[in-house]
Amino acid sequence: MHCHYCDREAAYGAETDGVTVGLCEEHFRERLEELAESDELAALEDRIDIDSAE
Ligand SMILES: [Zn+2]
Repeated sequence: MHCHYCDREAAYGAETDGVTVGLCEEHFRERLEELAESDELAALEDRIDIDSAE
C-alpha cells in the first residue's frame, strides 16, 4: 500500500467509512497535528462563547 498523499510506502492505514487509506510517517503526523490544532481551536471558541455571554 502507498501513501494517499505521496508515492512513498504507507507506514499506517487510516480507516474511514470502511475504506483504508495509506499514510506515510510524515503525512500521518501531519494529519495528527491537524486534528490537534482543530481541538485547540474548538476549546478556544468555547472560552470565547463563555466570555461574550457575561
Ligand atoms: Zn505521504
